[in-house]
Formats: sequence, structure tokens, C-alpha cells
Amino acid sequence: MKNVPLSFVACLGIASLFVASRAMAQTEPAKQNPQSTEIWEPVPPVVTPGTSAPNASGTTAPSDAIVLFDGKNTDEWVAIKGYAPANWEKTNEGPLKWPVTDGAMYSTRGFSARSKKEFTDFQLHIEFKSPEKVEGTSQGRGNSGIFLQGRYELQVLDNYNNPTYVNGMVGSIYKQAIPLVNPSRKPGEWQTYDIIYQAPKFNKAGMMTEFAYVTVLLNGVLVQNHTAIRGTTEYIGYPKVQAHGAGPILLQDHNNPVGFRNIWIREL
Ligand code: MG
Repeated sequence: MKNVPLSFVACLGIASLFVASRAMAQTEPAKQNPQSTEIWEPVPPVVTPGTSAPNASGTTAPSDAIVLFDGKNTDEWVAIKGYAPANWEKTNEGPLKWPVTDGAMYSTRGFSARSKKEFTDFQLHIEFKSPEKVEGTSQGRGNSGIFLQGRYELQVLDNYNNPTYVNGMVGSIYKQAIPLVNPSRKPGEWQTYDIIYQAPKFNKAGMMTEFAYVTVLLNGVLVQNHTAIRGTTEYIGYPKVQAHGAGPILLQDHNNPVGFRNIWIREL
């Protein structure tokens, strides 16, 4: 060490500390925080969707669909506190009291919506509208979500000129699958989701033997193409495998008044 410059020794020390802390981070997933599972790059390209008439009433249900919201009342839904299965599986807060105006219902502070009916494989159509008045940034702008079988969140977010982590943007399976592109419309304009969902399969021991798969079009543009969903949506940490049967559609309240209309589903 006699002729080795002190700065070189210091560098070696810092480098080994860095390597040690990296190794530690990989072996201690219990110390994750919400940022641990955020991905920010590369950003999916912006695509301008085809036009839609802004005042049109949207896409009405085909003859064989189950209508979950027809613009008149919230009879097909109950209110729930929180959106983890532990919060909604055994209890609910009674009738959903989201305000219904002009054929749409609006998420309000404190209660998410759970469909009374439960589903396995399905095609789901749903239209949503971010608040016209732009408030907040990143995950705080027009945040809601559609939880498939109550467990797997297809994110709803105002991502029109609103950067956020890309595995949490609109069209993502939250923190699991980045959308192919970003075909967002402007805040205050109605947008459409068309979702084809295949439920996961489990054996008697509760092990997942087949992933869930989802294909999603946002405003008519493909954003998820037969994407495997490997476990539950988690804000902190990795997806979890939880055996389950049929599950509800759940609409998240995230303290932003997001509008929903023309919700219908076809069992497959
Ligand atoms: Mg959300």
C-alpha cells in the first residue's frame, strides 16, 4: 500500500461498499418501498387515436351483454372501503352513492365500487373521462383503475402530457406491464377501454398453473397484447399469487372525480 495514492484506496472502499449494498438490496426484498417497483423508461410513444364525436353517448351494449351501468343508476354496484381483496371479499359499505349525472357516474372520495356480479373470462367495455380541470401531476391526476376479478388493476390515469412511471401509466397493468403506446385523449374527453380477459387457473394446492391473460384496446388502439398477469396488484413489493374463483369488477376511487359510463360485459 506504500505507493498507492490515498484517493485510490478511498475509491476502492466506496466501490466495495456500493457492491455490498447492491447485493444486500437483492437479498432483502422486505425493505422495498413504493419506488422500488417503479419503471420510468423507455416511455411508450404517443399515438393520436381516431376521432370520436365529443357529445356522442358512447358505445351501447350488444344484445348478449350484461349491462353493469346504463347511465341511470348504480344498482349493479356496492361501495367498498379500500380495494385490496381483504377489504371487499367479506364485507361492503352498502349501496354505491357515486353521483350519476348526464349518463355517467363519478368516483368520489372514500369509496370504491365493486360489481355485485362476479366473472371469470370476459370481454369488458368501459368508458371513462378524466377531470376537465387539470389538477395534480403524475399519479395524482385523474387516477382510478379497473380491477379485473377485483385483483388485477388496469390503470386509469390522465396521461395526456403527464409523465409518470411507465408501469403505472394509463394502459398499464399496474406495476406489471407497460402499455405498447399512449393513445390518451385530452382531459375531459371520453375514452374507451375494450378488455378481453382470461382468468388465471389454480390447482387444488392453490398454486397458479396458468397466468391470467389480458388484451386491451384504449381508444381503439392496442395497448396490451395477450399480456400475462403473474399475480395481484401491489403498491409496494412484487405481485402475489392468491388462488381465487370468479371475481368482481372493481372501480377504484383515488380521490379524483373520474367519470364512467357505458359499462357492459360479455362472459366468455
Ligand atoms: Mg389507479
